[in-house]
Amino acid sequence: MSFARFGADSDVYAYEEVDAFVCLDCRLEGGEFRCPSAGELITHLRRHRAEGHRVPEEAFTELEIESRTSTLRLSPEMTRRAQERLEQWLASATASADLRNIAARLQALPLYVDTGVCFLLRPGGELLEVRSDQSWSGEVEYRPARFHLGEEEQVRAAGRRSYPELADVVDLIGRR
Ligand SMILES: [Zn+2]
Repeated sequence: MSFARFGADSDVYAYEEVDAFVCLDCRLEGGEFRCPSAGELITHLRRHRAEGHRVPEEAFTELEIESRTSTLRLSPEMTRRAQERLEQWLASATASADLRNIAARLQALPLYVDTGVCFLLRPGGELLEVRSDQSWSGEVEYRPARFHLGEEEQVRAAGRRSYPELADVVDLIGRR
């Protein structure tokens, strides 16, 4: 999906790949600029504007919508409950050592795990994903959650089951 293409109203070509947001033939970086989240591409495109480059307004609008899918807007009270639940979860020893390692390192509550991915929620509302093409026992790479078709519903269902006291928070996933 592209957010802006070179043309009369645009000096940037910005688009989304499977696992990155890209600014092609970037006049700031002199090559290709890549970042993991829509939010970071917004910041990058603002730098273009600051340099006097043309960036169409729709690009920002589209990217804002995109970035909202990986950050839930939580009230302070919801954040407090999520934080408490995370601390409880970390203190109990029910989950596997690998999952506990990820949760502790990222300070995020695991919502959904399968053989390919783990989705987690930070008390601030950030949704993260950790892929399983790496070891989960040490330092792990993660990125803002990107849901494929139908995955949001699975994650909501799993989250509600594991954390009924956070059902209202979990239900915000995928709402735009
Ligand atoms: Zn650029």
